[in-house]
Amino acid sequence: MAEFENPYASEDPFVRAHFDCLDCGGKLWEYAIQRQMVCEDCREVFSSEDVFDAHVC
Ligand SMILES: [Zn+2]
Repeated sequence: MAEFENPYASEDPFVRAHFDCLDCGGKLWEYAIQRQMVCEDCREVFSSEDVFDAHVC
């Protein structure tokens, strides 16, 4: 039986999001469990909804 890796099955709850920090422009990581995103540079935490809203014009 063929097996494949599920990237979401990792122990790491953070998923790299394709968004930039609203404050410093750093890379955001999505904390999927709480539907929040955290910046890897300034550690600012945003709600996913706020980030989506800011990037959809
Ligand atoms: Zn930041």
